[in-house]
Amino acid sequence: MNQPRLITTCDGLQALIDALVSRGYRVLGPVVRDGAIVYDAIARVADLPAGWTDHQEAGRYRLERRGDGALFGFVVGPQSWKRFLHPSVETLWTMRQGEDGVRISSAATTAPKFAFLGVRACEIHAISIQDRVLRDGPYPDTAYAKRRQDAFIVAVNCGQAGGTCFCVSMRTGPKANSGFDLALTELLDGASHQFLVEVGSEAGAELLERVPHHSATEAECAAAAAVVARAVSQMGRSLETDGIKELLQSNPDHPRWDEVARRCLSCGNCTMVCPTCFCTTVEDHSDLTGASAERVRKWDSCFTLDFSYLHGGSVRSTGRSRYRQWMTHKLASWFDQFGTSGCVGCGRCITWCPVGIDITQEAAAIRSSLNTGKGEHHGGS
Ligand code: SF4
Ligand code: SF4
Repeated sequence: MNQPRLITTCDGLQALIDALVSRGYRVLGPVVRDGAIVYDAIARVADLPAGWTDHQEAGRYRLERRGDGALFGFVVGPQSWKRFLHPSVETLWTMRQGEDGVRISSAATTAPKFAFLGVRACEIHAISIQDRVLRDGPYPDTAYAKRRQDAFIVAVNCGQAGGTCFCVSMRTGPKANSGFDLALTELLDGASHQFLVEVGSEAGAELLERVPHHSATEAECAAAAAVVARAVSQMGRSLETDGIKELLQSNPDHPRWDEVARRCLSCGNCTMVCPTCFCTTVEDHSDLTGASAERVRKWDSCFTLDFSYLHGGSVRSTGRSRYRQWMTHKLASWFDQFGTSGCVGCGRCITWCPVGIDITQEAAAIRSSLNTGKGEHHGGS
């Protein structure tokens, strides 16, 4: 869709939130909580993290004060929108035994309509990857599909990049080009605080009628482009993607896997914070009398021994095999399964790894050992 460029203010942003609420959306956006910026319900512009930024490096995350009142002057925190679209715990069905026999009911899809405010470009790509996995395959997850269909997405183009971001090399940001209803670029210049708004859908255009705005001037469009250019120039990391699938799939016995396994705790943090990881397990619970039972689906992680347990043992019994599985799946075999990389370059797995393991560094180490001839061809059988 053609994306008209318009300008609104903080009052306009409040009008946008109000319009979403009046249409029955549960509005979710970034808030400061427990020393991090997370996603939760918001009702007012004042709920947003005005004047806060985040400092991120491998294994490090710290909130700091900015010198201005920017509402979106940070990057991504430990949570992603996956928390709402593909929740960490979900009841699939319940069973009750009554006088008229056993009754099994599917879990009701009672989730409210979500409006996500502040979705970054890398996160839009992550949502579209989860769409392919959970919605567009031969066995769609109907609850996910419903939540996704109802969701209204307000993107925010990044005006700064974090120390662990590498969306530019993954071609997933920092500007959102599609997949949103509305996209904002925050423009702060002294006392002037405005947002350039791009419209990405009919629903976005219709909602914007309820928000005071005016057409953007050329200078305002140039200012918005400069905001995104600043984020590009600050990108903390990069990942060389040329031939990465072949590189990883032909080196299953590279010594780097042993080296990373000596540091990896197999804690699974990287999979929990990753916006594209989708693996789950199911648990059945019953009460002590046997009158009721339920099946619950929970996020799982390929870093646990149980994840690959098959009749008498785990297929991936070592940390080496588990890290290799995770990284090779993300950056290589995901292409075979879903026609895309499983990584959008958000950097969360680097920031939230307790020992600072860095997926970009691990891939670079394997590549450079082969480029410099130190590493002959390792395995591949
Ligand atoms: S693998 Fe790491 S950088 Fe890539 S999408 Fe997942 S959390 Fe983000
Ligand atoms: S790479 Fe880091 S976050 Fe992932 S399992 Fe290993 S120690 Fe945990």
